[in-house]
Amino acid sequence: MLVKRGIAVAPGIAIGPALILGADVFRIPQRFVSVDAVDSELDRLRVALNAACHEIEHNEQLAREHLGEQYSGIFAAHLQLLRDPKLVGEIEGLVSNRHYSPEYASSFVLKRHARQLQNLGNKYLAERVHDLLDLERNLTRHLLGERRGELEHINQPVIVLAHNLTPSETANLNRNFVHGFATEVGGHTSHTAILAGALEIPAIVGIGSFLNEISGGETVIIDGHQGEVIIEPDEATLIEYREAEKEATTKRAKLRSQGAGEAITKDGVRIHISGNIEFPDEAEHCVELGADGIGLYRTEFLYMESNAHRTEEEHFQAYCQVVRTMGERPVVIRTLDLGADKVPGMMKDVFSDATNPELGLRSIRVCLADLKLFRTQLRAILRAAVEGDVRIMFPLVASLTELRQARMLLRDVVEDLEDQGIPFRRDVPVGMMVEVPSAAIRAEEFAREVDFFSIGTNDLIQYTLAADRSDPAVAKYYNTADPAILKLIRMVVTAAADARIPVTVCGQMSSDIKFVPLLIGMGLRHLSVTPQAVPVLKDLVRNMTIGQAEEIAKRVADFEIARDIESYLRGELKKLSPDSAG
Ligand code: PEP
Ligand code: MG
Repeated sequence: MLVKRGIAVAPGIAIGPALILGADVFRIPQRFVSVDAVDSELDRLRVALNAACHEIEHNEQLAREHLGEQYSGIFAAHLQLLRDPKLVGEIEGLVSNRHYSPEYASSFVLKRHARQLQNLGNKYLAERVHDLLDLERNLTRHLLGERRGELEHINQPVIVLAHNLTPSETANLNRNFVHGFATEVGGHTSHTAILAGALEIPAIVGIGSFLNEISGGETVIIDGHQGEVIIEPDEATLIEYREAEKEATTKRAKLRSQGAGEAITKDGVRIHISGNIEFPDEAEHCVELGADGIGLYRTEFLYMESNAHRTEEEHFQAYCQVVRTMGERPVVIRTLDLGADKVPGMMKDVFSDATNPELGLRSIRVCLADLKLFRTQLRAILRAAVEGDVRIMFPLVASLTELRQARMLLRDVVEDLEDQGIPFRRDVPVGMMVEVPSAAIRAEEFAREVDFFSIGTNDLIQYTLAADRSDPAVAKYYNTADPAILKLIRMVVTAAADARIPVTVCGQMSSDIKFVPLLIGMGLRHLSVTPQAVPVLKDLVRNMTIGQAEEIAKRVADFEIARDIESYLRGELKKLSPDSAG
């Protein structure tokens, strides 16, 4: 039995025979063409480009129909690249002037761009390298007249193990037969990971080299909860996972029905469970899963999809889509949290010199340094607020000065809109994220100046414990259950209660079911979580009392070590909801 660990990107358990997809490299037979063949070779290139574009359009349509607009955007970006006159001109130039074969010229150009992107050292852009390589293979395949048949001809259940799956391959996976997949490369933010989540196929990426240890046909288990691939499991493990797989299937079916209605504890207290989103199309998924609202809309992802600044109209349209989808439910729009790892291409100059981006120009600091950018967004939010229950939230606030500056600018924007006679809502509630320790420590003062708090545990943990949230080398220091974190959360909850303002936890901590009874016991009544967690948490809430939660919070205060707290919470979860404890 061989166990490999990677990054779990889509939960669930899948068991089946391994289908191995190789590195998928096409051999280019010929690098140069004769001078008198140049014209006909250019024609061949154009035919292949057209065929590749048609195929991408087809994939785009498939993704739009089955997965929604934001996923089809991935293919729209591919199409834009392949139709970019500059890029096509570069390839044609190499065929015309250097007499490269079209295969060699396109591979040369696309791989060179991929290398350049990779060298920028930016995590988001590095993921886009896969898109360019996907295009390179796609175009080469059309030129060579070959087709990668394996995936299209699957007609029995398999677990796909690959070096990499491109976004188009992932979007085309036949869910009836591909029960799970695992790849050697990839990260949390890769398009492949995003698509796997949307398709709900248990998936693990970023395992590192392991394909050479397998020959295909072996029984494989994908544990999309733990991020484990188990190859040739022993009998006991297989039986255990088969049971878990059966239970998971029944649970999934039950899940959607659990999302409907309010989450009220057995002793009658309502807990509001909202969804966190990055793209406007996700709002619909939140409604389907029963979210009570959008507790965190990470608007910076609007910039991640484009290499250009966004106009007020683009912001406005995106926000209106979310607000209209959510109807009467509240939508918390967080202002841009750019910087750190979320750096769009056109802004890389602004951030490129940062020696420690997480502590550098990021988030509200970027907005306060670029008032034009900030104004554009604030105007769009206030305008979209006419459509529903919109709230504004400022991220990464560390001092009262920053908060006051942001609020001052908001007042300015209100006056401008008024002067211009543009419809907008003036009484939009204004809140802040508490994700820097200074904000938690001074929560009492901040609470007097905002309408609500939202605790961003992802950053609060990294800044309190000095452990980079995305660096695997310090993952063992990044402890959600550290007593220092819990103490800060208590301070914020107390300050909010004293000031009678609502407080939410929107960091990943509230999506982790074992922490939910503790958070409720600490006084939280609002949680904002990854959409898939909404029905699970609603079910848990309906199976507990506030008294039980408070008892858990009281007991936790006696522990001194994060590990002990976590194992205690795991035990309590088992008692409250044996099903969800797994
Ligand atoms: C957080 O820091 O907890 C948070 C929700 O914000 P983000 O993950 O976008 O930094
Ligand atoms: Mg944050």
